[in-house]
Amino acid sequence: MNRMVLKEIIEEIEKLSAADQHRLKEFFIKSLTSYSASEPVLKEVSERKHKDGYTCTHCHSNNAVRFGKYSVKVGMKTMERQRYRCKNCRKTFTDVTNTPLYRTHLPHKWLDFVQCMIEGYSLRKASEIINVHFVTLFYWRHKLLSALKQMDFEQFTGIVEMDETYFLYSEKGKRKIIGRKSRKRGGVSKYRGISKEQVCVLIARDRQKSTYSKVLGQGRIVKSRLDKAIGSKLSVSNVLCTDAWRAFKTYAIEKGLEHYRFKSDGKERVRGLYHIQNVNNYHSRLKGWIERFNGVATKYLDHYLSWFQFLDVIKHRNDNTTVSKMMVDSCLLPTNATYEKLRLSIFRL
Ligand SMILES: [Zn+2]
Repeated sequence: MNRMVLKEIIEEIEKLSAADQHRLKEFFIKSLTSYSASEPVLKEVSERKHKDGYTCTHCHSNNAVRFGKYSVKVGMKTMERQRYRCKNCRKTFTDVTNTPLYRTHLPHKWLDFVQCMIEGYSLRKASEIINVHFVTLFYWRHKLLSALKQMDFEQFTGIVEMDETYFLYSEKGKRKIIGRKSRKRGGVSKYRGISKEQVCVLIARDRQKSTYSKVLGQGRIVKSRLDKAIGSKLSVSNVLCTDAWRAFKTYAIEKGLEHYRFKSDGKERVRGLYHIQNVNNYHSRLKGWIERFNGVATKYLDHYLSWFQFLDVIKHRNDNTTVSKMMVDSCLLPTNATYEKLRLSIFRL
């Protein structure tokens, strides 16, 4: 920049009110630090993706090579990024192909957005803070969560606490619900007990905190769904602790698992090491946290479950370490959620 011009700018800044000068200072700190903060995140994503050599995003072979650079606009700056080509499937890719950051020009703003997600801010509030339209942020949220939803682990170890919880079926965001009067947000089911109007969520957790939390379907929990969900993660070395529901009992017998059952209204809640208190606490934390969204569309419930699960891992701590962990982790889990796919679902805040 021309020295004269810079001098004029400084003179103009000096004329500003103290409040405006303060805002300007905040603006500089925010924009300059977030620019520089996104680069180490991208570097970590790249290094972890290629930890065993250049690895193809499409076919996962280690037969990829560097294939020239490309430039992207990051905010106002132009950055050079590495492109790769796979000698196996011949496709090209970059470090952000099939990640939430694919085709975004605002990686630095993503970090601010992740911060808002850890705080659990509404899209409107996040929109005010980071100055990106809330509709765009809606897509960001669900792209990121569709990646985090892939979080997984191989096997449970030792004692596994398992319990189901129910959420009211919701088509929140769908403008016209045909054949049914729309229910108020977070309303009460007209049926007593568990019905098709309720969505069953299974939480299973071992004492090392490996956690399974996903939607099993509508209505009461059934054995076949249970096995499909967690069967591959259980072996005869596991001990199951559940509530008294019959599906759990027949399932444990079928799998040959040692099993402890606890009635929800029973006096005996603990038998030595065996109880379901960790998973019950998880339920109540989850329900408390999810209330802020005033009802969640059932089709997105899995996204919110993964979101909460991640927050539980980082203990809801909001600092540079956890923000970059959430960003890096979501970039290491493949997602093909695109604006187009998410746009097909009509939504409302
Ligand atoms: Zn390939």
